[in-house]
Amino acid sequence: LEGERLQKVLARAGMGSRRACEELIDQGRVMVNGKVVREQGKRVDPDKDKIEVDGLTVATQNYLFFALNKPAGVVATMEDPDGRQCLGDYVNNRETRLFHVGRLDTETEGIILLTNHGELAHRLTHPKYGVQKTYLAAIQGPIPRDLGKILAKGIELEDGWARADGFKVVQNVGKNYLVEVTLHEGRKHIVRRMLAEAGFPVEKLVRTQFGPIALGDQKSGWLRRLTNPEVGQLM
Ligand code: URA
Repeated sequence: LEGERLQKVLARAGMGSRRACEELIDQGRVMVNGKVVREQGKRVDPDKDKIEVDGLTVATQNYLFFALNKPAGVVATMEDPDGRQCLGDYVNNRETRLFHVGRLDTETEGIILLTNHGELAHRLTHPKYGVQKTYLAAIQGPIPRDLGKILAKGIELEDGWARADGFKVVQNVGKNYLVEVTLHEGRKHIVRRMLAEAGFPVEKLVRTQFGPIALGDQKSGWLRRLTNPEVGQLM
């Protein structure tokens, strides 16, 4: 017999006990490749079939996804021929080849995803998919009240216009501002260049969110495995 029983695959993906997953199937809440399946014991391929519960994709694949809170000073490559600190130094996994999803410049800290799903890693960085990333930037004020509008309208950079999807002042103590910028593109140094061009060189930059995945209070240099619902949101 090929594949695995649907309720077992659902249970392993964290959807509840085997029994609870059988109930989900009974209730008509489970779809396989776009069709509701009410038959118990249907065999599926967890790596290839698209399995949904209540319309949301469930990550059933045996893929690995991690979020690393990259410290400043670490090069965003898996290996560094010059022996500088790099992402590979933060990963113990030697069983499968991991790819990083996009880049962060060496001086920028924060969330960077790692996965052995090479195709998805590539897709998530493609501008066509418009994955939003959020950054916290430390800048020196005073800043104009309409800085958000200025960034939303767009800043002209030497390689074309750059626009922010979101902007918010998170903290202001005297001249020190902490601002949050959200955008869905990934040109090199884009946030630093936008803010510098607007007149506010960035003193520190942290990526706090990548698509649906938030950094939260994950400590610098720590790696965590994404939860199944998180992986489901990425797929
Ligand atoms: N924008 C930057 O300036 N640096 C990064 O690492 C990412 C976005």
